[in-house]
Amino acid sequence: MRVLITGAAGFLGSHLCDRFLNDGHEVIALDNLITGNTRNIAHLAGNPRFMFLKHDVTNYIYVNGPVDAVLHFASPASPIDYLKYPIQTLKVGSLGTHNTLGLAMGKGAKYLLASTSEVYGDPQVHPQHETYVGNVDTIGPRGVYDEAKRFAEAITMAYHRFHELDTRIVRIFNTYGPRMRLDDGRVVPNFIGQALRGEPLTVYGDGSQTRSFQYYTDLVEGICRLLASDFVEPVNIGTQEEMTILDFAHLVNQLTRNPAGIVYREENRIPGDPQTRRPDSTRAKTILDWEPKVGLEEGLEKTIAYFREVV
Ligand code: UDP
Repeated sequence: MRVLITGAAGFLGSHLCDRFLNDGHEVIALDNLITGNTRNIAHLAGNPRFMFLKHDVTNYIYVNGPVDAVLHFASPASPIDYLKYPIQTLKVGSLGTHNTLGLAMGKGAKYLLASTSEVYGDPQVHPQHETYVGNVDTIGPRGVYDEAKRFAEAITMAYHRFHELDTRIVRIFNTYGPRMRLDDGRVVPNFIGQALRGEPLTVYGDGSQTRSFQYYTDLVEGICRLLASDFVEPVNIGTQEEMTILDFAHLVNQLTRNPAGIVYREENRIPGDPQTRRPDSTRAKTILDWEPKVGLEEGLEKTIAYFREVV
């Protein structure tokens, strides 16, 4: 296949480039580099099956030759990034999704949208099944990302229903691993960076909010299985290993042997920060025969080793 990946210089986009190249495909990588970094794909320079184009996909996309699949992963994805780039976040989820859908139509390609557990907002149903329609404050600070992704899902389904485009939607739950930006503000790089510098970990609020952290290799496998399937409705990909942020802080301190403990930063908690989050993964299991394989400690050890090199 000739695969086009947007957001290709980001954390997940770059790992997808690696996966598709390793599987023998050609990759056209697009990124405007506002939150991505060419460091993540530098090792692919010179690979004859890899091509990088610096391009903002909110503008019309020209690509020569055939394209068999389009994977739309471009977007600021961490809360501090989308607070810093609110308009770009809305544009890449709306205009960027429209442009990439149009490209897929023009090329007769399959289309896969990177959506998110954020479409569930601060959920009132737990765990979150794909049929749950969510609880999002349209005008809250997180609304720029949540609503962009909700629109992206809606237009993807419209292209499927109206134009019969062959589409997939993956709802990605918290994912971590090497190539996350140390300063992206998310809890995994924040905690690991703080721990490796011997600083206390900054817990926002009382730390009772929960997340379920999956290692990126499991997500990438789920995405490949979804693309290969013929399932059009959204599929959650995430782990059942739910824990409180406070327990997560203790775990990071334990694995890094950081004696500095934790500090509470109530004021840093963004309004609408989901209190709980865990996927109902029945669909992924039933339809894709997918289950996460990497345990939290194993994945964190590898991620800590990566961050040791960059801290
Ligand atoms: N969080 C925290 N300390 C940090 C960064 C984040 O306690 O230094 C909390 C944040 O308030 C949220 C959770 O960790 O409840 C996960 O935040 P993250 O930014 O990783 O992404 P989210 O899952 O909210 O999209």
